[in-house]
Amino acid sequence: MRKALHFIGGRLVESARGRWMEDLNPATNEVIAEAAAGDGEDIARAVEEAEKAFRESWWAKKPRERAKVLHRLADLLEAHGEELARIEVLDTGLPIGQARGQAQRAALNFRFFAEEAPHVVGESFTVEGQFQNFTIRRPVGVAGLITPWNTPLMLASWKVAPCLAAGNTCVLKPAEWSPLTATRLAELAAEAGVPEGVFNVVHGLGEEAGAALVAHPKVKLISFTGETETGKIIMQNGARTLKRFSMELGGKSPMIVFPDADLERALDAAIFGVFSLNGERCTASSRLFLHEAIYREFLDALLKRVAKIRVGPPEDEKTEVGPLIHPQHWERVMGYVEGAQKEGAEVAIGGRRPPHLPHGNYLEPTVLVEVKPSMRVAQEEIFGPVLSVLSFKDEEEVLSQANDVRYGLAAYVWTRDVGRAMRFAQGLEAGLLWINSQNVRDLRTPFGGWKDSGIGREGGRYSFEFYLETTTVHVAVGDHPIPRFGVGEA
Ligand code: NAD
Repeated sequence: MRKALHFIGGRLVESARGRWMEDLNPATNEVIAEAAAGDGEDIARAVEEAEKAFRESWWAKKPRERAKVLHRLADLLEAHGEELARIEVLDTGLPIGQARGQAQRAALNFRFFAEEAPHVVGESFTVEGQFQNFTIRRPVGVAGLITPWNTPLMLASWKVAPCLAAGNTCVLKPAEWSPLTATRLAELAAEAGVPEGVFNVVHGLGEEAGAALVAHPKVKLISFTGETETGKIIMQNGARTLKRFSMELGGKSPMIVFPDADLERALDAAIFGVFSLNGERCTASSRLFLHEAIYREFLDALLKRVAKIRVGPPEDEKTEVGPLIHPQHWERVMGYVEGAQKEGAEVAIGGRRPPHLPHGNYLEPTVLVEVKPSMRVAQEEIFGPVLSVLSFKDEEEVLSQANDVRYGLAAYVWTRDVGRAMRFAQGLEAGLLWINSQNVRDLRTPFGGWKDSGIGREGGRYSFEFYLETTTVHVAVGDHPIPRFGVGEA
């Protein structure tokens, strides 16, 4: 049986208490591995190692030396891309083609942040005749990185790469449903020359290992990706030790299609946007708003295409949608589909297990119609292959409905009218807006959400803002006045 061990101080180790968690293959629900189930004791060891490594080895390296090591790690991730993608397929049910894309992106993250780190500079402020002021950027220390189960390798790299490039050390707590690639990433990092203790992994339940990481007084930063409700708990628990947080949370992103759009491309984007990554995508375009003039035509074309999406075993090269991560998650997603029908929505296609796949957590790509903006399937994040379709009459109506959810992660607008596109850019409450485009992001751009979708931005220099501290230095260049106390008569 495969084992996902902790990686602490450069060594693969079991939990201090010897406990384990089962890891399932989503395609079969067979146990494929055991992951070490860590708790406060393991976290304490990992933080101690990370603190020591921060003081003794990592920060002392020149940024270019650190960058060299991270470039080597990017090389190793590329060389092991197929192996990592296959582990991810086994662990998460991501279709192999998409898992390969995620593995490549993980390598790119290390390369990108390794290239950027040496260019981090401070600012200079001249106060004529009195001062020269400037800022020095320094790493913060030990970071706690907490990741969810969708695209675990890519999301780990998204945090670990800028964290280490900036000179910090870290403890990564991966999600309990997809632990495998995290340990492998740590092994490859060691092979690339990341010193002992710089990058530690502690597996375990969120409420145990995760909570202990958040509560640890020596952990200064928490970068969290996951559900909004978990984010709130983490912020409460981290308040006692005054953590700095980056919160990348849930979404319920709208895609709005006007009749003047390139409807063929909009259709491709609508389908990919919600059904890629098995629908387990934080930026999924899960609410499709169609202008009433094209509603019927677009919906018919959509349903024809959705009927032909290939649902199947994730290791099959042809598969477009694989199984959901876990039986519990399957139940949750199905609960939304059933609840929607009770509220008056209709299943236009899907909404059931594909008959040819009796085992595993498969669900047919599902399209819901007759959806009202107030229904749960139009308000809450489902995180599965379920699309809610709504129609609209005019800009004003759709803008207000698009914004009328607690989330504000992403939005997508399809129109050839530049003025209208810009009005949406100015009016939509979303951290990310794609106009006539699907979810492609240059690594330099800021990523993050409004409202319940998160706090802060990561990506490019925004990641360094999070992972670095600032010292402002004031140097006198002349004799500026210093008030003199205690020189008068007593
Ligand atoms: P989750 O919130 O259940 O878990 C995320 C991580 O938090 C896991 O590692 C878990 O063990 C840990 N955790 C749970 N309770 C904790 C606690 N009390 N203290 C510390 N850690 C704790 O999320 P999930 O179900 O794994 O992932 C799905 C969610 O992630 C969705 O809401 C999705 O939108 C979101 N997500 C957001 C982004 C983004 O960038 N905005 C990206 C991917 C996923």
